[in-house]
Amino acid sequence: MSSWAALAAELSRWRVDGRLPTFWWRDDDATGPSRALDRLLSIAAGLRAPVALAVIPAAAEAVLAERLDDARVAVLQHGYAHANHALAAMLAELADGARRLAELFGQRSRPVLVPPWNRIDPALVAMLPGIAFAGLSTYRARAGASPAFGLTLVNSHVDIVDWRARRFCGEAAALTLAVDHLAARRTRRADADEATGLLTHHAVHEPAAWRFVERLIAAVRTGGGRWLAAEELFGQR
Ligand SMILES: [Zn+2]
Repeated sequence: MSSWAALAAELSRWRVDGRLPTFWWRDDDATGPSRALDRLLSIAAGLRAPVALAVIPAAAEAVLAERLDDARVAVLQHGYAHANHALAAMLAELADGARRLAELFGQRSRPVLVPPWNRIDPALVAMLPGIAFAGLSTYRARAGASPAFGLTLVNSHVDIVDWRARRFCGEAAALTLAVDHLAARRTRRADADEATGLLTHHAVHEPAAWRFVERLIAAVRTGGGRWLAAEELFGQR
């Protein structure tokens, strides 16, 4: 199990190698304003950390767009209705969802798909560029940066929820995920260019989880790392 000291040590190994440890922050399941979302937005604004919100198109409320006044918030597409169906129906729904998010969020929305439960049929991946998706994000170290022509894959790697208990997995477990991915990148056991992705779910976080997020953002920066925005990962619109 890892510690804050282990994270600092790993970040210093990157510095010794003259390399920049990159991170990004994805938060899933946004639909509308809530106190939990306010907490997330205030952390992101207070620490000037870019955050990519994976919004469920079928459930997205117009008031959510009004609430996202911070320019550093990008909107990714979290499936359609957080359900899975047959391929042709899914393609039509995803294209629908993309239109809905572009209408609601304008420039803030990005043609990046975050599939429900981070699972997606490989046959569907190949079809995403055909319905104008430029990016995809699931979970765990990617095998390659481009799973289909015209599609960039940037995953998340540090899910801070223990889903069986539906609560924060604890600092040690979360830091282990972060340090392991960083070390795998540094030693080329994983794609060195894939930014390490923090994955949060604002609706289920207790205060300890938020404290962890704040401390992680700060610790990465103190160690010389950088938090990247969605446009740096997936390109401009
Ligand atoms: Zn989800």
